[in-house]
Amino acid sequence: MSCMVMMRSALRFLRSVPVACQRSMSQSSLAGKVAIVTASTDGIGLAAAQALGKRGAHVVVSSRRQANVDKAVALLQSQSIKVIGTTCNVGKGEDREKLVQTTLDQCGGIDILVSNAAVNPFFGNIMDSTEDVWDKILAVNVKAAFLLTKLVMPHMVKRGGGNVIFVSSVAGYQPMQGLGPYSVSKTALLGLTRALAPELAHSNIRVNCVAPGVIKTRFSSALWQNEDVEDELKKQLCIKRVGEPEEIGGVIAFLCSEEASYITGETVTVTGGMSCRL
Ligand code: NAP
Repeated sequence: MSCMVMMRSALRFLRSVPVACQRSMSQSSLAGKVAIVTASTDGIGLAAAQALGKRGAHVVVSSRRQANVDKAVALLQSQSIKVIGTTCNVGKGEDREKLVQTTLDQCGGIDILVSNAAVNPFFGNIMDSTEDVWDKILAVNVKAAFLLTKLVMPHMVKRGGGNVIFVSSVAGYQPMQGLGPYSVSKTALLGLTRALAPELAHSNIRVNCVAPGVIKTRFSSALWQNEDVEDELKKQLCIKRVGEPEEIGGVIAFLCSEEASYITGETVTVTGGMSCRL
């Protein structure tokens, strides 16, 4: 190749770089979007709120306790993230309605819903689980996820589209010992994602799901606080460590961005390589 041709190619490359950068920046940006994240005062929900906020979204954090909401709002504000907060126990209809109305009143619309809340009031043999356990788990982990989606959907339609993300679990693929009812509720979210995606695609709303492996939060502390249990767990992983909440938050923000504009009805497993399939 002559020197002249090489210089021309180099110039062409340099000229193309800023354009490529601008394109990828604008596609990952969530500026102007309003994002509700449930159970977002700690752990994965807080990390999701942070990741969405850092990409420019106005985030709405919530959980059951006002003190936790206040703390999360202060933290996100200290990181220059646009944020409001309100209490919301997702298992209560009036709380879900308040969450949506507060968002509309203070942020002017809704573009993103991250349904992250879950409970697990039972550990033991599945045959010992009671009707009360099942009612509670299904009401919070599955029914509330659907009912919140139903509540926000008309507001997303007004904005010309949106994104819904459910937070499932690797336990939804392979039920974890002692966590039968919880695991089943997480499998249901994979089905809910698939059931909603085709219907909401007509309204330009994408519906996706993330299935975290073991992530370092209070919820999973029994799995990583005891060294023997953690060592046993690591045997199942390619990446020999427990995950961090930010490693889920980033995937959620990606799925809500234009970079993921052709992805819907999918569940992304984020497990450090734990093998999982249905
Ligand atoms: P976490 O760190 O313990 O945080 C739980 C959050 O949920 C807190 O902000 C808590 O605040 C809030 N919360 C609890 N019950 C609620 C309710 N009924 N309504 C609204 N907010 C509620 O938990 P996490 O590990 O991040 O778990 C988040 C999600 O990830 C769950 O869906 C869980 O199943 C899933 N997941 C976690 C792991 C893991 O290894 N950590 C793995 C797979 C899936 P308040 O106490 O103020 O309500």
